[in-house]
Amino acid sequence: MAKISYLYQHHTWQELGARVREQPVVVLPIGSVEDHGHHLPLDTDNFLIWSICEEAAKRAAGEILLLPLIPYGFETHHMDFTGTIDIRQEHLLHFVLDVTKSVAHHGFRRILIADGHGSNMPILDLVARRTILETDALCGTFIWPSLAREEIRRQRESGRGGMSHAGELETSVYLHLAPDKVEMDRAVKEIGMPESEFIWMDLMEGSPVHLMDEWTRFSKTGTYGDPTLGTPGKGEAIFEAVVGAFVRLAREFKNRPRGARTDYHERPSD
Ligand SMILES: [Zn+2]
Repeated sequence: MAKISYLYQHHTWQELGARVREQPVVVLPIGSVEDHGHHLPLDTDNFLIWSICEEAAKRAAGEILLLPLIPYGFETHHMDFTGTIDIRQEHLLHFVLDVTKSVAHHGFRRILIADGHGSNMPILDLVARRTILETDALCGTFIWPSLAREEIRRQRESGRGGMSHAGELETSVYLHLAPDKVEMDRAVKEIGMPESEFIWMDLMEGSPVHLMDEWTRFSKTGTYGDPTLGTPGKGEAIFEAVVGAFVRLAREFKNRPRGARTDYHERPSD
């Protein structure tokens, strides 16, 4: 198998040193091994985020350097479902921060953490901030649907809650990428949280108040959303919009200007 130039770990250490001079955006994908209803495999978050990152790296022609995927996420609230792997939040924060700090240590100055699993986001936000505060690199993080909100709203048929977890959104993109792994005849619509003016769950339209309970208290199938509205056509349009935005993001972020820091303290001389 030939070396693939956008894959970080396909380089020798000396080749990687040469890539530092080019300053590509280093992308760290992270997902999860987690229940996704009766119709999608445990690999859903990993498979979707890796597919998006790999396609963006292919199209970005040398401007993205792609790290291996971190396959596990913060899942304590999903542990009633068989098969889910939980990395406790403190561990995940320190583990991901160790990866970004290693990348910064080697001289890369632009790092993006690309997330496939919603509950990783508050932790990754802290990781990105700490990477900035504790290294010379700029580091940002996003969950993939955020890159293509307009296109997703255009494709969307479900109401509030329909695009949360294993719902219309993830099911559509999975159907586009690997239809043989989706058991649509087993897909069940389930939107089970109590009605509320302030607290709901939706990947595209977040609620003003954040609250996450143990999942089996409000979802019996491991779905939160409407997967019955998933289609490969919607998935293709959404995938293309996300990948296109990701390439534009990488090109912009690679050259993002950064002002000089000023320390305004007056230091008394000895
Ligand atoms: Zn998911």
